Amino acid sequence: MTAGKKPVIFCDFDGTITLSDNIVAIMKHFKPEGYEPIMKRTVDQEITLRQGVGEMFALLPASRKDEIVDFVLNRAGIREGFREFLDYVKQAEIEFYVTSGGMDFFIDPLLAPFNIPADHIFCNGADFSGDTIEILWPHPCQDPCTNGCGMCKTTVMRRFPEEKYERILIGDSLTDFEGAKIADMVYSRSILTDKCAELGVKHMPFQNFFDIIADLKQKHQQGVL
Ligand code: MG
Ligand code: ZN
Repeated sequence: MTAGKKPVIFCDFDGTITLSDNIVAIMKHFKPEGYEPIMKRTVDQEITLRQGVGEMFALLPASRKDEIVDFVLNRAGIREGFREFLDYVKQAEIEFYVTSGGMDFFIDPLLAPFNIPADHIFCNGADFSGDTIEILWPHPCQDPCTNGCGMCKTTVMRRFPEEKYERILIGDSLTDFEGAKIADMVYSRSILTDKCAELGVKHMPFQNFFDIIADLKQKHQQGVL
């Protein structure tokens, strides 16, 4: 952490704010024919996230929208300490953004109780007007990112120049790998922890948002944030 820079937090949604990944859960529950090889190739990074997620959702009939939304809303749990964490960042005047590779049709209702301004939530959209679900990408990769992120976390993060901002990423998985490479500090779970170790990125593994509050408070007291 560097004194004098303004902290800004970019927080993943699936598997970070929620207890597990909702895209994976939708696919495993509805099992559209042919999703498994696409999921594998996406996880193995043989195809881009944008291609993989787009192709998997294109296997699901749009007529199942209500079932899919109900499924996610009924099973997705919010990680412990999230509300307290939002209170803390507000009080500490730390800018906070949700940066998610997921879709608005489940993110917006799940985040509704937390009153996060809409322009602080970056995610993908979905069009249910055709035969199958079409994923929409309002925040695609911009130069210099050519990763095919879908929702490009680095493009969002680059709007906060590194000379002025201490860029803090919170995440757990594949959608966070590129952002972690340019973050000053990462709070990590799951395979993002392994990735940060591999990349040599400064990171702190966490279980819940109370862990992150405690670390941010400590850094604040030490005058490094
Ligand atoms: Mg995630
Ligand atoms: Zn990108």
